[in-house]
Amino acid sequence: MAYTLINARPAGRPATEASSTALAAGQGALVDSFKRRVTYLRLSITDRCDLRCTYCMPERMTFLPRKDVLSFEELDELVTAFAAFGVDKLRITGGEPLVRKDFMELMARFSRHLGNGLNELTLTTNGTLLSKYAGELSAIGVRRINVSLDTLNRGLFEKIARRDMLDDVLKGIDAAIAAGIKIKINTVALASINEHEIPDLMRFAHQRGADMTLIETMPMGEAETNREEDFLSLTKVKADLERQFTFTDLNDTTGGPARYVRVEETGGRLGFITPLTHNFCESCNRVRVTCTGRLYTCLGREDGADLREVLRTDPSGDLLREAILGAIARKPKGHDFNAERLATPASPRTMSHTGG
Ligand code: SAM
Ligand code: SF4
Repeated sequence: MAYTLINARPAGRPATEASSTALAAGQGALVDSFKRRVTYLRLSITDRCDLRCTYCMPERMTFLPRKDVLSFEELDELVTAFAAFGVDKLRITGGEPLVRKDFMELMARFSRHLGNGLNELTLTTNGTLLSKYAGELSAIGVRRINVSLDTLNRGLFEKIARRDMLDDVLKGIDAAIAAGIKIKINTVALASINEHEIPDLMRFAHQRGADMTLIETMPMGEAETNREEDFLSLTKVKADLERQFTFTDLNDTTGGPARYVRVEETGGRLGFITPLTHNFCESCNRVRVTCTGRLYTCLGREDGADLREVLRTDPSGDLLREAILGAIARKPKGHDFNAERLATPASPRTMSHTGG
């Protein structure tokens, strides 16, 4: 194994003295002009992927030249800077994060901040390679993982993801659970595609002790599908499910934008992320950094800063910290997605570029 295990500890413990000291030492917290404190970073470590989900990217996707993508050292410097600013939750995403070469070495580097700034290190994955890495992820302190899964039907999986890899995903989910990692299943709700399967997917998740979150399609990047046709309002999904299941509203949040209910029949939790029908911006605590080092302070807008430029030109890190603070100060009040604009992307970026 090419990396050393540093500071593994259970997630969910409060931020330690070290992180409070970093704040007290004068770096300050990241508070925007609407008094929202940014404590959650989603970091994309690659734009590459082994699937081609139709709503996410075209079959012939053009990936970025490698020199444009941040190196391990640059990614590490970024994470260190955000952790010193009081960001205590780091979610690694992509593209598909597990396809990045030496992925575990990078994760092990990030894990040294656990208990020393970071409270939680987690990731969002399509699960195809999870069976390979689940044990090692658990060993470095990863306690929760989001796995994207839109169907349990092999043929439909191949149609949506354009690859016949459902079995790998299911093996990955089992391996993660066996390694003691809590799984959340993320499902994009697609009208007439997986709409009918949502109750089965929910039972599948809850039987494994996993939460499930439903997501509405977002107008990100050029897809080869008709988003207006595929768009399925979660208000409708919720109403349909409530004919079969009893929901109790929960106040839980997991630091993300989902609103949760308890499903009495299964005992599990079901979350709804509704960027188009419900505005979740008021309590937004998160920012995203792409694998090219572009900081986006809002998923649906272009506001942010180019952190790669300062990472590559200023070894002192001063310009990096200034760029982060400047961008947070300009964080917009909210996104401007709306259902009428589904056909024209609110953002030209694909989700795989920004990091979902
Ligand atoms: N490859 C990983 C995965 O699929 O989980 C991580 C990156 S992926 C971009 C993150 C999440 O974004 C996935 O759950 C995916 O289903 C979702 N996603 C991608 N494009 C989307 C879109 N246009 N609207 C809504 N969700 C989208
Ligand atoms: Fe890959 Fe995730 Fe996009 Fe699917 S949603 S193509 S798995 S990045």
